[in-house]
Amino acid sequence: MPENVVPAHDQTVTHRYRIHYPAHEPRETDPHYRDFEAYRHRTRASAECQFGVDRVGDFSECGGNLELHHAHIEFALINAVDLALLEARYPGVSVVGEVGEWVNGSADNLMWLCEKHHRGLGGIHHAAAADWEAEHFIRNLIS
Ligand SMILES: [Zn+2]
Ligand SMILES: [Zn+2]
Repeated sequence: MPENVVPAHDQTVTHRYRIHYPAHEPRETDPHYRDFEAYRHRTRASAECQFGVDRVGDFSECGGNLELHHAHIEFALINAVDLALLEARYPGVSVVGEVGEWVNGSADNLMWLCEKHHRGLGGIHHAAAADWEAEHFIRNLIS
């Protein structure tokens, strides 16, 4: 190995920050929870982990049941959404109905992930975005 090569190594990464949640209803009484359940019911039969789909069908690192993930906006953040920002990227979103309907009932904001790739080590809620992306092309990157 040339002497200017950094040898393989492990590095522990920690993220710590404060997130500012607006006031929101408990999930169980969220008026759009039924949209979420309807979307789940409608798409469950054909659901696959999006991580594996993005790996062009390699589901070898998937684990656990499939779960629905809010890809852009979690339900607890709905009351803080800047509609102008959301409309700029998803034109017509406010025409669909309330933002809550888009957040909790649309394919634009909901994606299926296996438990590992959702909430597990290296999952979308665990890994930094850059590492999550790299994981698609590097096997067993995060443990
Ligand atoms: Zn998966
Ligand atoms: Zn999620």
